[in-house]
Amino acid sequence: SAAVPHWSRLIRDVPDFPRPGIVFKDITPVLADAAAFAGAIDASAGAWRAAPPDAVAGIEARGFILGAALARELGCGFVPVRKPGKLPGTTLFEEYALEYGRDRLELHADALPAGARVLVVDDVLATGGTLRAAVALLRRQGARVCGAQVLVELSMLRGRDRWDDPAPLHAALAL
Ligand code: IMP
Repeated sequence: SAAVPHWSRLIRDVPDFPRPGIVFKDITPVLADAAAFAGAIDASAGAWRAAPPDAVAGIEARGFILGAALARELGCGFVPVRKPGKLPGTTLFEEYALEYGRDRLELHADALPAGARVLVVDDVLATGGTLRAAVALLRRQGARVCGAQVLVELSMLRGRDRWDDPAPLHAALAL
């Protein structure tokens, strides 16, 4: 239908990845197609053009790809939120629960000036745990989180219901 953006047709379902029973939404075909990539970034930028942030914070690893492109589109800087042990400088970390066990995100302690307005970006919102951990980390660093942007929201996993945050959460596409 006309309501379905052209780039979203390139999102591919990969069954049993990363584990049996999980259907993984693979966005790499969107990135590989010039028009689709441009359309996805344009759709992700829409909510923020009127009041662009000072920086985009992208979550490793697909949040780097989308976040860096979005930062260029919005004319702002880019800050990486990384998996453990990757950042060379002094870091802050935030732990968060996974289905099994815990994981951790790291941020340079001096990544942004105090009060900088930052937009958090990732590819997919599932339960929302990753995005919420990134927001907590950025706030602890002293940034002002003005919102969160994902390319795809997996509605069945109800991450939006657990988004009890004053900063707006936008998805370019809900599946
Ligand atoms: P959450 O923390 O449960 O919301 O999971 C979101 C994180 O897992 C994001 O960093 C996503 O990149 C990744 N993720 C979860 N499900 C998918 C998927 O189906 N496709 C791509 N990434 C996913």
